[in-house]
This record gives sequence, structure tokens and C-alpha cells, in this order.
Amino acid sequence: SEPASQRPTRVVVDLGALSHNLAAIRERVRVPVMGIVKANAYGHGLVPVAQHLEAQGVDQLGVAFLEEGIALRRARVKVPILVLGGIFGPQVAEFIRHDLDITVSSLDKLRQVEAAAEALGRKAGVHLKIDTGMERIGVHSYSAGPFIEAAVASKWIAIKGVYSHLACADDPSSPMTALQVKRFAKACAHFDRLGAPMPPRHLANSGGVLHFPDTWLDMVRPGIVLYGVLPDPVSQRTIDVRPALSLVSQVVYFKVVRSGNTVSYGATWIAPRDTRIVTVPIGYGDGWPRALSSKGEVLIRGNRMPIVGRICMDQFMVDLGADGTAYNEDEVVLVGAQGGEAISTEAVAQVADTIPYEILTGLNERIPRVYR
Ligand code: PLP
Repeated sequence: SEPASQRPTRVVVDLGALSHNLAAIRERVRVPVMGIVKANAYGHGLVPVAQHLEAQGVDQLGVAFLEEGIALRRARVKVPILVLGGIFGPQVAEFIRHDLDITVSSLDKLRQVEAAAEALGRKAGVHLKIDTGMERIGVHSYSAGPFIEAAVASKWIAIKGVYSHLACADDPSSPMTALQVKRFAKACAHFDRLGAPMPPRHLANSGGVLHFPDTWLDMVRPGIVLYGVLPDPVSQRTIDVRPALSLVSQVVYFKVVRSGNTVSYGATWIAPRDTRIVTVPIGYGDGWPRALSSKGEVLIRGNRMPIVGRICMDQFMVDLGADGTAYNEDEVVLVGAQGGEAISTEAVAQVADTIPYEILTGLNERIPRVYR
């Protein structure tokens, strides 16, 4: 039951698919799972997804930024939460106050965290970040010795994990992953050298989970595959996961465009004959990519129908052909299934010349989410 005052455009999230995907990942890797819920849970809705995963027994959750972690704590999510992004000095005390695990990615940052923990009189939970080839954040694996030693020695630091991030795991044929595995193992060996307990080591994103058992170690960090979407068109479906997200709207207008008349901004699409056209009330202002102009498709009455003309901020047009039928308030599926047909996020991404991640995370807060 949705408020009648909202336009009938929805992201529909199938919570059963999320449960199924978490179970399928666990079954495959048999190590703890940190579910990645950053960027509004890849467009699926941060708090409802996190609460559902927690209820399904996910071991930990990962977000990108402090604010996302605080939102989860305010929603009474109790599982350990790691903030994956780099930290800014003035924020450190907030991490500790909200019991959020901190990614520490340099010796300087370690000292900042230590100082904040001491000032609060409370240990900081941290995961040490090792750079094995992303060159994003983290201490280079070949100079990790002093960093790990300082963390082990600190009485204000509770080491909850040590991790790195894979650059090419979505491609099963890339040699980069084996190199990163080797570099990470070398860095972790410093714990043994110091006689310190080995903290949980984690490395695998979805690509690692799908293609590289060597990366599973003590915990995995899947994002996109948890939502039932593959990272890349070259990825293989080695796990039985199903897409959790659908994007649906309704026809808001029907008309016949006369032969030779043009549709939408720039008058780029010209009706080759008298053509039945419907208008759908969602556009790039919702995160539906403008790159789909005159290229994408939608499902109406179980048929694939082409998007014609440029996608506008709030609307776009669909060609029903010379004698296609559709009525006001007919369901329009942009992502998902209708009748026997389906449009995947991966397919939309390919047409828009981007990756599925950008399609999912682009669906913004203007679109209401519903959970089934
Ligand atoms: N771990 C880290 C550090 C990340 O930045 C991400 C997302 O980019 C993930 C895990 C999850 O990645 P994926 O969605 O490819 O599984």
C-alpha cells in the first residue's frame, strides 16, 4: 500500500533474493561474510538492507563513509561495521563513539587514531589497510613492517582485521589477482615475525568470491554479487544468485506522433510513420541514464519496446510501433521481469556504456523503495 500522492515509480527490492544470495555466497566460501552496503546499499536502501542482512546472520557490514556507519548505528544495527574509506583527523573520535571500525591506511593515521582513543579512554577498533596494487589507500605491502609493528605495539588500538583490495578480480583471466595475493601474504607475515596473533585477513570483493578461492582467506567482502548482479560482462555466474532489484514505473501519457514529427530535446528521433508513443515519468534526474537515449529498452505488456529520443530529467518516451497497444497506468519495467521477458542491470549498463555498479548506485533518493 503506497501513498496515492507518490508517482507510481518504484525501486522494488526482493528481500528473499538478498537472503538467498547471502546463503549462496556462504555456501561457496565457507568463511565469514562482510556484506558491503555502501552507497545506499548499491541503491537498494542502506538501512532496510543492513537490517535484513543482520537478521539473516551476516557477520559484519562494510560502508564507505563515517556518515553511513552512523546511520546504521542510529538504526540500531549491532553487528561490527567497518568503514572502508580513508579517515579525516577530526572525525576519528566519532568513529570510536559510534563503535565503528576504522580503516587505518598509514602510520600517521594510526597515530591520529591512537591519540583520539587515548583522549576518550577507549580502544579504537581498526582494520589495517595494505595496498597490494590498487594505489588507492593503504600502506604499500613492501613497507608494511613498521606499520604493523606500531599497530601491534599500541595499547589504544584493537586490531580487528588486516585487508587489501583487488583491482582486477572481475576478470577471471587477469594475472593481477595472484600478484596481489602474494603481496598481501608477505605483508601479513609480519604478524608471525612479531609473534603477534594473526587478525582476520580479508581481500575478496565479488570478483574474488566468484573467481579466486585463494582470496577468501578469513572473511570475504562481497558487494554487487550480494545484490545478485555480476561485476562485469566478462564475469562468470559461478554462484547461483538472483537480482534483488527491479525498477518499475507506469505509462503516464499516450499519443500518436505523426510521420516526420520529432520526439524530445534536440529533435534527434524522427517518426518514420505515424507512431504510437508513450511517456514514462522517470528520467536522468532519478539516475536513469541519459546515455540510454534512443538506445535502451523497457518492458510494457510483456514486450520489449525501444526508448526513443533523448531521455529528459523526469520523463522519456517509448515507441510502441505503428499498432502497439498500451494504456495509461500500464506497468513499465525498466529493470526486472515482466511476462516472459527480463531486462538485467548488466544489460542496461552495457547499453549505457558503463558498469552495473554505476546504474545501481545512480538510482537516487527521489525514487521510493519498496521491500517485498
Ligand atoms: N571492499 C572494498 C574495500 C570496496 O571498496 C568494495 C567496493 O568497491 C567492496 C569490497 C565490494 O566490491 P564488490 O561490489 O565488487 O563486491
